[in-house]
Amino acid sequence: MLPEFDLVMPRSLNEALQVLAAGSPEVLPIAGGTNLTVDMRSGRYEPKVVVDIEKLPELKGIRRENGQICVGGGVTIAELLKDGLVAETAPVLKSACALFANPLIRNRATVGGNLVDGSPAADTAPSLLALDAEIELTSQDGKRRLPLDEFFIHVRKTARQPNELVTALRWALPKPGTGSAFYKLGLRKADAISVVSVAVVLEAEKGVCRKARIALGSVAPRPVRAKNAEEFLTGKLLKKEVFEEAAALTAQAVSPISDVRASAEYRRRMSAVLTRRMLEQAAEQTGWKE
Ligand SMILES: Cc1cc2nc3c(=O)[nH]c(=O)nc-3n(C[C@H](O)[C@H](O)[C@H](O)COP(=O)(O)OP(=O)(O)OC[C@H]3O[C@@H](n4cnc5c(N)ncnc54)[C@H](O)[C@@H]3O)c2cc1C
Repeated sequence: MLPEFDLVMPRSLNEALQVLAAGSPEVLPIAGGTNLTVDMRSGRYEPKVVVDIEKLPELKGIRRENGQICVGGGVTIAELLKDGLVAETAPVLKSACALFANPLIRNRATVGGNLVDGSPAADTAPSLLALDAEIELTSQDGKRRLPLDEFFIHVRKTARQPNELVTALRWALPKPGTGSAFYKLGLRKADAISVVSVAVVLEAEKGVCRKARIALGSVAPRPVRAKNAEEFLTGKLLKKEVFEEAAALTAQAVSPISDVRASAEYRRRMSAVLTRRMLEQAAEQTGWKE
């Protein structure tokens, strides 16, 4: 059973921020509710006030803005999945959305809720990290933007303050010679929590890596980047031996645990295997043939 709470239905972002302004952990926003209602039923959260932000127009929309893609914090996974701009400019995110839960959940679940929940297995996180996304947090005091990599702190702990809402995510339009790939390994092919997920974005010129981003889910207390492997790749010719070395470095960058889904050893091994495969796929998309 759900505990008792007051439901507030603001008509604008300003109204919502006013209710959240005291910064009390007993006042929680709800978007799609696919995490929060489960957490309220289980007793993990017992808010006295729930602020419904699902229909706020300020949290909606996917658009180009000053050379970037801007996605509202209240955009659903289904909306990301069917959006032409996302497909064209961020296929790595589209791939993650295609493997997210099931159509019913995708219709309600929002990208903001996915990130704020702070799960190491959040499916949009590796792709958004690999895209170098920035997250916009808004309170009555104003807006602040931070690299998504600085947003995740630990399991279910993020840099969001209780008086803030995630209003947008932004990332740069891809440069020519960009390739990307995403893989989610679960215990079944659909509707599964990831055992390991890997997102890769590579920028290359004549086969030389100009920039690499490798991000992983479910292999550390938070979604992580393999920065050692990214640095190693930069300036190197994209080829098999280089991918193998980068994959081995990635396995060193993760700190997985054993749980009901997989052992830590298996997760570490699959971090390397999947990273190598995703690097190969992404490299091919840059237009380079070894
Ligand atoms: C059956 C099932 C399957 C699932 N499968 C997957 C899966 O495959 N992959 C995956 O990653 N997740 C999965 N989830 C988890 C969940 O669906 C996602 O994390 C979802 O994106 C959460 O978004 P929401 O809008 O429903 O968040 P809500 O439940 O509304 O909120 C989640 C948290 O974020 C806060 N919040 C929400 N929006 C904002 C905002 N804009 N600003 C600030 N705080 C905010 C809330 O206060 C709450 O603490 C699954 C859940 C269920 C029940």
